[in-house]
Amino acid sequence: MNRGPVAEIDLSALQHNLSILRKRINDRPVIAVVKADAYGHGAPEISRRLLEEGVGTLAVAFTGEAKKLREAGIAAPIIVLFDRDDPSDYFDFHLTPVLQDVATAERLSREAGRRDARLGVHLKIDTGMGRIGFRAEEAVAVAERIAGMKGLEITGLMSHFSEADLADRSYAERQLRIFSGIRAEMTGRLGCPLLCHMANSAAALSLEDAVFDAVRPGLLLWGYSPFPEQYGLRPLMKIRTRVLALRAMAAGCPVSYGRTFVTSRPSRIAVVPLGYADGYSRHFSNNAEMLVRGVRVPVAGRVCMDLTMLDVTDVPGVAEGDEVVVLGRQGGESISACELAPKAGTIPYEILTSLGRAARKEYHS
Ligand SMILES: *Cc1c(COP(=O)(O)O)cnc(C)c1O
Repeated sequence: MNRGPVAEIDLSALQHNLSILRKRINDRPVIAVVKADAYGHGAPEISRRLLEEGVGTLAVAFTGEAKKLREAGIAAPIIVLFDRDDPSDYFDFHLTPVLQDVATAERLSREAGRRDARLGVHLKIDTGMGRIGFRAEEAVAVAERIAGMKGLEITGLMSHFSEADLADRSYAERQLRIFSGIRAEMTGRLGCPLLCHMANSAAALSLEDAVFDAVRPGLLLWGYSPFPEQYGLRPLMKIRTRVLALRAMAAGCPVSYGRTFVTSRPSRIAVVPLGYADGYSRHFSNNAEMLVRGVRVPVAGRVCMDLTMLDVTDVPGVAEGDEVVVLGRQGGESISACELAPKAGTIPYEILTSLGRAARKEYHS
């Protein structure tokens, strides 16, 4: 038996989600955020399909991720959101850095000088996220300084929302106003066109004014909206595994570590080869369901490192080797990352990255 779960990735859903997005943003350009291996979906395959569907630019967190995409033959522009390391990578692999400090700009400028090359850079403004970026008050002065550095050309301006997913829009709108102000001032002072982008999935779906020159979504591409409303998006990821062993147990038998589940009747317990080492949170102990033969069945006892037990007593005919669906559809039932996330005290993003990372991928177009 192959270890662990399989992630079936439905690339036609990616096309569907992209078309839903494009209708909402009047076909404006999309910068697809494929960091963290495309949130666990597999960055090379996802990126290839996105580019086929007309997406022009990709964004990743670190240069290592961008290098992997280049090695996979992807030639499209790649924006590196967070990395400040080796300046030579940006030149060697034709990557666009996002600058959030002057020291990195100086290092890149020196490297450009050594190579007699030019590098397009985007500037990140902290409009209220409180993570990284130039402070709003210093942004224009800093931009003028960087624009004067040899070999560097400011081609883009970006910021990031802190809470565009809340029903209360006031803080997102405040960030938006700050960004708009800086954009206007900077465009005037620098006198060159800037690609301005701010909208994550939440803003792309709900804040028309946040679209600017491009949107920068991740989550919605994988078929999840950060709102209760799902906008007709279709999840790409299905996680499946198989029944490893089936046990008949009398009433009163404990199941798994710590005896947190004790059979209340003669029971059939299925053992599934998937555990927290596969990204299936221990918080799902006695607290989540999986699908077997199209029926929801409860997790029985603690989730272990490599194994999880299910109470399949009420499902007739379950056999060893049966498909078990952890995430996604089976028969008429389905389990979504939105259902699992609160049970583990987290958000769909973490469910997708955790389960996706560990699973062997199978792509369907
Ligand atoms: C992750 C990320 C995004 C995408 O956010 P989603 O909520 O997944 O759409 C956009 N911009 C930045 C800077 C990010 O870190």
